[in-house]
Amino acid sequence: MDFKDSPEDATWRSEVRAWLDANASKLPEGEEPAYNLLGEEEEDEGAFVERSKAWQKKLYDAGLAAITWPKEFGGRDASPMQSFILGQEMGAYDVPAGVYTIGLGMIGPTIMTHGTEEQKERFLPKMLEGSEIWCQLWSEPNAGSDVASLETRAELSGDEWILNGQKVWTTGAHFCDWGLIIARTDPEAPKHRGITCFIVDMHDPGVEVRPLKQINGAAGFNEVFFSDVRIPDARRVGDINDGWRVALTTLMNERFAIGVGGGSGGSLMPLFHLAQKTHSNGGVAFDDAAIRQELATAYIAGRLLSLTGFRSLTKIAKGGIPGPEGSAMKLVSTKLASQLAETASKILGQESVLLSDDAPDGGTWANAFLSAPGIHLAGGTDEIMRNIIGERVLGLPKEPQVDKEIPFRERVRS
Ligand SMILES: Cc1cc2nc3c(=O)[nH]c(=O)nc-3n(C[C@H](O)[C@H](O)[C@H](O)COP(=O)(O)OP(=O)(O)OC[C@H]3O[C@@H](n4cnc5c(N)ncnc54)[C@H](O)[C@@H]3O)c2cc1C
Repeated sequence: MDFKDSPEDATWRSEVRAWLDANASKLPEGEEPAYNLLGEEEEDEGAFVERSKAWQKKLYDAGLAAITWPKEFGGRDASPMQSFILGQEMGAYDVPAGVYTIGLGMIGPTIMTHGTEEQKERFLPKMLEGSEIWCQLWSEPNAGSDVASLETRAELSGDEWILNGQKVWTTGAHFCDWGLIIARTDPEAPKHRGITCFIVDMHDPGVEVRPLKQINGAAGFNEVFFSDVRIPDARRVGDINDGWRVALTTLMNERFAIGVGGGSGGSLMPLFHLAQKTHSNGGVAFDDAAIRQELATAYIAGRLLSLTGFRSLTKIAKGGIPGPEGSAMKLVSTKLASQLAETASKILGQESVLLSDDAPDGGTWANAFLSAPGIHLAGGTDEIMRNIIGERVLGLPKEPQVDKEIPFRERVRS
């Protein structure tokens, strides 16, 4: 990859920077933008969502919302590189991120691929301008890594589907307007072939959202219960019993969203600053050889991650699709996030457990430590990433799937 911007990309970068200078405030050097759905206390979260809505509308009005979307759906057909540059530049400004990732990054492209013309017209513009927020309703208590084992069912009655069941870990369900859900519509078919995808109104009286309180006090995700929720057939996405194919489109976009760019180790630079300013043994933590060793190891991992991200980006820019390197990057970036949080704990000692605003860096480090285990699970667990690498990179035999071809109703249930 050529690390220098092409002349067109350099022009784009300066346009973006000029717009951001005029519309947002620059963060102090080394600080990260607010991306904190899992870290915000509940009372702050409402304000964060409102701030995200206002920012999304501003991006939309400037033609900078979801720029890789096709022009016909309100995007600008921008290249992955232009999108990367926009993200890179935005990272230096105090702007909220995260609320629209699932909608714009995963569900929008799924509706573009599998939705009807009416669905595209009704849902995509509001998703883009940010007035409607979306969640992804896949995981269930008995279906996570093996999501095709889902048990939430939808039964056809006239031209409506009656939905009953439960989802879990649904990020943002408590402030979302719409959800993309997959449900079992034919229990006689093998598990991947009896699933259908729908758009569900999260404000329907039959939808009950119960926030899950996390160890850090926040409640970023939820259990969602569906009791006789009526979904018009017009809100079915894709064919009946073809929902697995629809779900794969969403998952592919999820890997793309996680994979591209790779992240540079997230809070790496703030951790360096923490070590430079925290008193320790008559000096600062940065002078401690053991801490320096950990920082150096983290820096190397962060740098390799970024370079792998650039390699992936180059492949996509040349028309390729993200490959299994996305899984390797997810595995390494989550490991790095845990390592950074552990090093911060060593630097801060007892103070590392403080979560309050007057804690060092406003409690960021205690939050990072408590949130890290969740990152190892979200978007595919470490073990699933290793399975993908084993099968698709190392060419190891696939795991046996004894229940793949039998009717779903006959499977052995744990
Ligand atoms: C922060 C966060 C946000 C999330 N947001 C959403 C969301 O918005 N929408 C949504 O639908 N879901 C969401 N999830 C759920 C997430 O997709 C699941 O947690 C994940 O797929 C794992 O499923 P599970 O928790 O049921 O664990 P399980 O699949 O039950 O796994 C339990 C353990 O077994 C291991 N394991 C399972 N299968 C295998 C295998 N084949 N080989 C080796 N080991 C295996 C796993 O690695 C894990 O350690 C979120 C989760 C988190 C933590």
